[in-house]
Amino acid sequence: MAQFDYDIGIIGGGAAGLTVASGASQLGAKTLLIEREPALGGDCLHYGCVPSKTLIKSANVYHSMKNARAYGLPALDLPPVDFRQVANRIRAVVATIQKHDSVERFCGLGAQVAFGEARFKDEHVVDLDGRLLSAKTWVIATGSSPIVPPIEGLREVAHLTNREIFYMDTMPESLTILGGGPIGIEMAQAFNRLGCRVTVIDMSHQILGKEDKDMADEVMRVLESEGVTFQLNTTVVRVREEGAKKVVVVKPSEGSEQDLYSEAILVAIGRSANVNGLGLEAIGGDFNRGGVTVDNRLRTSQKHIFAAGDINGGYQFTHAAGYEGGVVIANAVFRLPRKTDYTYLPWCTFTDPELASIGMNEKTAQAQGIDYSVWTEAFKDNDRSLAEGEHTGRIKMLLDAKEKPIGVQILGPHAGDLMSEWVAVLNGKTKLSTLASAVHPYPTLGEINKRVSGSYLAPKIFSERVKKGLKLFFNLKGRACGHPQDKCLQDCNMEGAP
Ligand SMILES: Cc1cc2nc3c(=O)[nH]c(=O)nc-3n(C[C@H](O)[C@H](O)[C@H](O)COP(=O)(O)OP(=O)(O)OC[C@H]3O[C@@H](n4cnc5c(N)ncnc54)[C@H](O)[C@@H]3O)c2cc1C
Repeated sequence: MAQFDYDIGIIGGGAAGLTVASGASQLGAKTLLIEREPALGGDCLHYGCVPSKTLIKSANVYHSMKNARAYGLPALDLPPVDFRQVANRIRAVVATIQKHDSVERFCGLGAQVAFGEARFKDEHVVDLDGRLLSAKTWVIATGSSPIVPPIEGLREVAHLTNREIFYMDTMPESLTILGGGPIGIEMAQAFNRLGCRVTVIDMSHQILGKEDKDMADEVMRVLESEGVTFQLNTTVVRVREEGAKKVVVVKPSEGSEQDLYSEAILVAIGRSANVNGLGLEAIGGDFNRGGVTVDNRLRTSQKHIFAAGDINGGYQFTHAAGYEGGVVIANAVFRLPRKTDYTYLPWCTFTDPELASIGMNEKTAQAQGIDYSVWTEAFKDNDRSLAEGEHTGRIKMLLDAKEKPIGVQILGPHAGDLMSEWVAVLNGKTKLSTLASAVHPYPTLGEINKRVSGSYLAPKIFSERVKKGLKLFFNLKGRACGHPQDKCLQDCNMEGAP
């Protein structure tokens, strides 16, 4: 039997790779984890989720301070933001979380961490900067990078991506964002709130293209009301520099070319899988810029080589990468034929208000020809939301023809956290009646989950049929008041009632 240096080798120390390394080493597999950056953690920790959510928090605090009067507080005359301080806070949060992803911690779990650029020599051997290391099983978890599209002039003009934007010394006075996806939109609101003039360009007719248009449009309206400019149905023709200004030449689908001037450009047009330099040709891998092709057990064309996380071109989220890491452990270490299932994979765009989603939305239901009904509740009818000064947004619940929930979208305060209840309901196949009758604390935003399930059940409970039955059995006498405008018993004035 062939002898290998390791039972399992993992290339990439981000969310997917760390999950596999942690699980495999704790289960007793001799584990090697290779990372090319000087620290573990991947994009999420260093250039993605953590810095972006930290930046968003700073932006939201500054926004609240600017809007103090809306909360009955004195108006503040605020100095402009010193972005170096914001970037320092981002560095501090990243450094704190970095401790969870330290070499020492992984060594403590039993995994060997090695730094360097890994490249396959053959289907069991990897070249790590001249050292040959073999493993029985390999996991490719090399993540993705921002796409810089072949727009004339873009490569020659200095621009920002998610790798630079969180660590700038100064904030540009104006920013043109190419791309109206989650990254572009989160950054648009955050930078606008911090005092930067922001324009977003997207070739589509809506922002956040995966979401239902009505929900995405509502996010756009909020951002517009705060001062963000949108140019939709618009393509970027070329980019050039004029002195200190960057000029983005755009062409709306109807209209002529326009020059948009700003101090900086953020490219947030999409992500390409980190396949270059991995030597995938040496293992006969099936891959392209979109990712490495895998089956539903995350195996590549070589059954002992897995690909998890952004690299496989599926859902590009940290929690998806973590989930896939678990599927790899089941298949590679436990040797159980566990398949991926993304039916109830939730996600959230962290704008204010947040937009979270699980299961099907109207777009995906229509694309699959599924018969559905929509049930909604608005946050303006939620007491806690009003107390918080949040009036925008709603929950949308989709039921199939058998009245089973197939998806939920929430646009509102803390939508991502509110989604957790639906994660449990949908995965646990909990009945809507259980959710509707479960007592929720008052006043909480979470009551909206209970209410939307109740709104579906209410017409059934308060139906004419039920009323007739109750009247028949218990001799109920029916309405005590004919109409809200009718006089009340003591001739009281409803308008003047406390
Ligand atoms: C701005 C931004 C905000 C985001 N916000 C969120 C969010 O709020 N929620 C969410 O769920 N997701 C978010 N994401 C997405 C999330 O960051 C990714 O889905 C996640 O990081 C993917 O994990 P991964 O393990 O596949 O890849 P990564 O975390 O990128 O890890 C891959 C690692 O492989 C290493 N590597 C690559 N090639 C080699 C090689 N040849 N040899 C050795 N090492 C190599 C890389 O250096 C990297 O450390 C965001 C992304 C961005 C850019």
